[in-house]
Amino acid sequence: MAMKLPWKLVVEWISEGEGCFREIVSVLAEKRTRFQEVMVAELSGLGKSLVIDGKVQSSLLDEHWYHEALVHPVMITHPRPRRVLVLGGGEGATIREVLRHRSVEEVVMVDIDRDVIEFAKKHLGEWHQGSFNDKRVRLVIGDGREYITNAARRGEYFDVVILDLVDPTEGGPATKLYTVEFYEKVREVLRGEGIMVTQATSPTLTPRVYAVVKNSIARVFRITTPYVTYVRSYNGLWGFVTGSDKLSPKELSREEVAKRLRERIGTSLRFYDEETHTWMFSLPKPIRELLETIKDYATDKNPVYVPV
Ligand code: SAM
Repeated sequence: MAMKLPWKLVVEWISEGEGCFREIVSVLAEKRTRFQEVMVAELSGLGKSLVIDGKVQSSLLDEHWYHEALVHPVMITHPRPRRVLVLGGGEGATIREVLRHRSVEEVVMVDIDRDVIEFAKKHLGEWHQGSFNDKRVRLVIGDGREYITNAARRGEYFDVVILDLVDPTEGGPATKLYTVEFYEKVREVLRGEGIMVTQATSPTLTPRVYAVVKNSIARVFRITTPYVTYVRSYNGLWGFVTGSDKLSPKELSREEVAKRLRERIGTSLRFYDEETHTWMFSLPKPIRELLETIKDYATDKNPVYVPV
């Protein structure tokens, strides 16, 4: 029997020769910006979603799994995060999570695409929940690498740097934000017990890319800590990597995570707690083996790409 396909789909490559499609129930808004093709749509299975260049960036179903996993481990690990730099994160959900921490005095958010931000402000209220209007937030429109290079030159410092960027794709706007040279700049703007984290693609769907991102960070920082969560919107396990000269989130005990969450945030989160923390940092054996086997790293001359 022939399968009847809906005529409007988001078709996303998830690895070489393998893809995923989702029915577009309705398009809520779409725009071709200077850098990217942006759409907010109601997708089957995921609900309201942000799609950039045909890739689901986050959906109402599980954006909290991704954003809380990205933000809280590094924020909780730093003894007192006051100045935080976020590169990317157009939906405003990453700064939303950063702002929950009472110690935060300033969050600088740098996104390359003004139209994505305008789009998010208008159509993604469930994500940013008014965070763009918080007095602690300074929004900069520009390339994250350029910003961090100038910040290093000016001697500007941060306690935590969070990289919430689109995946590295050939010709994409963030490819040069996954290289050794870039992580060297990140290290320059981190003070003392500073710590960075990046989303790092999937250790199961694009394992080489994940390992290369981890290795690139490991060439720059003394301590590199990979971890994962599950994100259905991204079709499986999703990976992150932290880098620091002093700290690793993996060293925190469950009791300490619970204590810091209580003292610094006060309310219970939807995804992240001490139990979730332990789970995210306990990598399955095949992923540990993958990270031991692959030795490549990415440079400006030889970057890494995910399939598009
Ligand atoms: N969680 C997401 C994912 O991996 O699917 C990332 C989401 S967030 C929407 C990605 C943001 O990165 C977008 O808002 C995009 O405009 C921004 N971006 C891409 N390249 C950038 C660059 N070079 N500098 C700063 N922001 C950038």
